[in-house]
Amino acid sequence: MKYMPTIGLEIHAELKTKTKMFCHSKNDSEEKKPNVNVCPICMGHPGTLPVINKEAVKHVLKVGVAVGGELANFTEFDRKNYFYPDIPKGYQISQYKFPLVKGGTLHNIQLTRIHLEEDTGRSIHKGSESLVDFNRAGVPLMELVTEPVIANAQMAVAFAKELQLLLQYLNVSDANMEKGEMRVEANVSVSPKSKIKSQKLGTKVEVKNLNSFKSVERAIEYEIKRQTSLLEKGEKVAQETRGWDENKEITFSQRQKEESHDYRYFPDPDLPKLFISEIPEFKYDVLAKELSELPWKKRERLIHTFKIRPQDAETYIRIPVYGKFFDSVIQNIAGDKSLILLSSNYISSDIIGLSQEKESVGKIEPQHFASLMKMIKEKKVSSRGAKDILKEMFGKGGNPEKIAKEKNLLQTSDTETLSKIIEKVIEANPSVVSDYRAGKETALQYLVGQGMKESKGSANPEILKELLKKKISTS
Ligand code: ADP
Ligand code: MG
Repeated sequence: MKYMPTIGLEIHAELKTKTKMFCHSKNDSEEKKPNVNVCPICMGHPGTLPVINKEAVKHVLKVGVAVGGELANFTEFDRKNYFYPDIPKGYQISQYKFPLVKGGTLHNIQLTRIHLEEDTGRSIHKGSESLVDFNRAGVPLMELVTEPVIANAQMAVAFAKELQLLLQYLNVSDANMEKGEMRVEANVSVSPKSKIKSQKLGTKVEVKNLNSFKSVERAIEYEIKRQTSLLEKGEKVAQETRGWDENKEITFSQRQKEESHDYRYFPDPDLPKLFISEIPEFKYDVLAKELSELPWKKRERLIHTFKIRPQDAETYIRIPVYGKFFDSVIQNIAGDKSLILLSSNYISSDIIGLSQEKESVGKIEPQHFASLMKMIKEKKVSSRGAKDILKEMFGKGGNPEKIAKEKNLLQTSDTETLSKIIEKVIEANPSVVSDYRAGKETALQYLVGQGMKESKGSANPEILKELLKKKISTS
C-alpha cells in the first residue's frame, strides 16, 4: 500500500515592539543579563492589570493584510491555563475563539489563523539547578497556523522561509530562527493513499523545538518514515507531542498531546474586547497602504519585468544589501533592459565574488556602477578591463571613467580615430592584406594586432576588426 504524508505548521514569531505585550517592560531580545526587563505585570503579581500593546496588534494585522486574510471585527484575549516555572501567572494570555486574522494564503498554502499571545520566560538548566530568566516573559508573540495541506518536508521549509521573509519585509519581527525569534512546530500524519477524493487524514504527531530550517526538514522526513513503517507493520501511530534531537537526528516522545479543554480557556476578564473595525488606523485599506513592496511582488517584478535569473532575484530579495544596491542601480539606468540585465550579471557574479561572503558592495556607489555598465555597453571598456575597474571601485570607491583613464583601460570605439589607424595599418602591410584577400583568415587577426599596437592598446578590438574587414572589402 502507498502512504501519503500530510503536514500542517504552527509558527511562532516574536514581534519587534518597544515594550512587552501587556506592560511597559522593554522588549529586548538582545538583553543578556537575566531578569532586568521585568515588572510586576509581566511577573504576574496579584493586583496588577495588563494593558494591550497597540503596536503588537497592528503588526499582526499587517501580516493579515499581506496574506489576504480576514481581519476580525471582534477579537478578545483568553487565558490558557497551565503550570510551568517559566509562566509567572500560571496562565498564558493568548487568543482562542476570536483570533485577529482568519484565513489567507502564503506561498500557495492556506492559512487557518493568525493570533497574538505572550511569550514565556526561559528555563535554564545547569547541572542539578534550574534557573528562570523572565526577560522574555510577556514579549508579544504571533502564532500562525496553516491548514493540513502541505505535502512534503521541502514545501514546509519553503513556506517557513517565505514567512520569515515576509515578517522581515514588514519589519514586524527579525524572525531569526537561531535566536529563537521564529519557532516552527510541525504536525505530521501519514495515511494510506486512497483513490477517492475525500482523503481521510491519519493521526497527527506534533514535533516541537525546531530551531533551524534544516531541523524542520529533517524532523518532518524522519516522522514520515517512522509513521509509515508503523503503519506498514499494522501498528497505530500514537497522537502525541514529540521533540527533535538535533544530534541524533531523531524525534522522541515527550508527552501525550493534551486536548484544548485541558487548558480551560476562558476570556481574560482584565482585558477589554477589541472592535478592530472601529479603530481607524486598523482599517484594511489604511493598513494596506502602509505595506512596503511584498517579497513575492518584488520577485514578480524582478523576474517578469526585468527577466533576471530567478536565483539572482532571490539574492536581491533575501539579502538587503544587494537588493537595495540593485534597486538604486536601476534608478540610475532609466529602464534600459539590457543594462539592467548586465548590471544583474555583474552584481551576482563579480560584486558577490569580490565581497567574499561578507554581503557587501564595498565602496561602490550605485551611480558609479551604473556608469560602468554604460561604459561596457558602449564598448568603452573591455569586459576584462571592467573587472579591474570594478575591483578598484569595490576597494577604494571612485568614478569608473577616471579609474579607466588612470589605468589606461579606456577603449576607443570612435570610428574616425579607428579609421585613421586602419589606413596606416593597411598601408604598412600590403602583403598581409593580400593574404587576407586570398582567403587567409589569420591574416586579419595579425592586422587587428597591429591596429591595437598602433592605438597603444586603447582601440576596441571588435570594432577595429569590423572596420578592417569593411575597409579591405571595399577598397
Ligand atoms: P490542535 O487542536 O491539536 O492544536 P488543530 O486542529 O488546531 O489541532 O491543528 C493544529 C495544527 O495541526 C494545524 O497546523 C493543522 O494544520 C495541523 N493538523 C491537524 N490535523 C492534522 C493531520 N491529520 N495531519 C497533519 N497535520 C494536521
Ligand atoms: Mg495547537
